Amino acid sequence: MTAYDSIFEYVNTLTIIDSHEHLPSWEHRRETETDILREYLAHYFSNDLMAAGMTFQQVEAIRDPGKPLMERWKAVEPYWKLARNTAYGRALDLTVRSLYGADRIDGSTVEGLNEAFVKTLAPGHSQYRKVLKEMSRIEYSVLDNDLDYDPTYFRTSFSIDNLIFFKNWKCLDDMECDTGICLTSFDDWLEACTLELDHACEQGAVALKLHAAYRRSLYFANTPYHEAEACFRNVLEQRKGPTWNPVLPQSTQAFQDYMLHYIMRYANQRGLTCQIHTGLQESGRNLIANSDPSLLSNLFIQYPNVKFDLFHIGYPYQHVMSALGKMFANVYLDMCWAHIISPAACINALDDWLDSVPVSKIIAFGGDYIIPDAVYAHQLMARRNISKVLAQKVEDGIFDLDDAKWMAKRMFYDNPKSIFETGK
Ligand SMILES: [Zn+2]
Repeated sequence: MTAYDSIFEYVNTLTIIDSHEHLPSWEHRRETETDILREYLAHYFSNDLMAAGMTFQQVEAIRDPGKPLMERWKAVEPYWKLARNTAYGRALDLTVRSLYGADRIDGSTVEGLNEAFVKTLAPGHSQYRKVLKEMSRIEYSVLDNDLDYDPTYFRTSFSIDNLIFFKNWKCLDDMECDTGICLTSFDDWLEACTLELDHACEQGAVALKLHAAYRRSLYFANTPYHEAEACFRNVLEQRKGPTWNPVLPQSTQAFQDYMLHYIMRYANQRGLTCQIHTGLQESGRNLIANSDPSLLSNLFIQYPNVKFDLFHIGYPYQHVMSALGKMFANVYLDMCWAHIISPAACINALDDWLDSVPVSKIIAFGGDYIIPDAVYAHQLMARRNISKVLAQKVEDGIFDLDDAKWMAKRMFYDNPKSIFETGK
């Protein structure tokens, strides 16, 4: 038996913790007016189809279950062929192979696959139980920001973006409604935010979550109270105006910076975990440099009791992540989403990390899917990637098989458990 076979055999038996998902928080909330093309192109691979030349409108048409399946398949097929090589594409083929017994999604299988897929939505069948528990052996998955969740499968994070950005005026209305605080000053806003954070902690959120890299730089300056207060006062003034006037993120930069530090002080006092999106932004057309995890360094220094769970191997900043994991005791390197972004990048990153960072800092898996079916393929790819890197280290004589297996369990189970279950 090779080192890989021995390690993978063990790794494949592990119960794991899934650090990040976007699945519907209760199975009955899954969309039912759907089919396999709509479901499987909800995200990720649809972006690779667009990178291969499809327009957004064409992808939208493929997602329309009101049109005949084969007609839509014919339209997507040339692009599917061009992008099938990516890990997003491979994950979907691995999904149908593992769940439905077809070799891959193509013109000869898609109708049969669709019939099998639609059956999994029938009342009385639990695809969550089958995929997440029985096949993937996931103890729990940490959902992205949904406090109303099925505890059989999930825990949750709490998004702090709503305390930092104003998408529209309704955000302020919602805050008043949620907290019962009438917003007449910046201090009112801070009090309302504290109540929201208290509520999330009481409801059992295992982490805070920051998505900000989709819309601004991850560098949050230390900003004086009076600058943030002036910003918020301006927002309140605009709110009084007769016309709807959206507040653009740039106009509230000082407010955003102050708020993030305010929330980090809260998290620091309680030893909370904060999950942060770093690296690749989904859906293309964005500024990758905004998501460089090294931009967060001032926070790592100022808030030593916060456990910073940095997402997505920071792709393509995975080697910057390595330095951060080495430099800061409170920085954790999370491979969620990354095994389907690029297995090669994950393997190279983990090879580097295991040479430079304590194994206790690495979190092996988070599915990051909207689609329950594909979580199985993703976690299998993760188990394979981690096993490959560990096997190479064993073959190089760096550590032995028992060490490798112990490290695998740390990364898949003990490490995520330690950061999600120790906050106050
Ligand atoms: Zn995500």
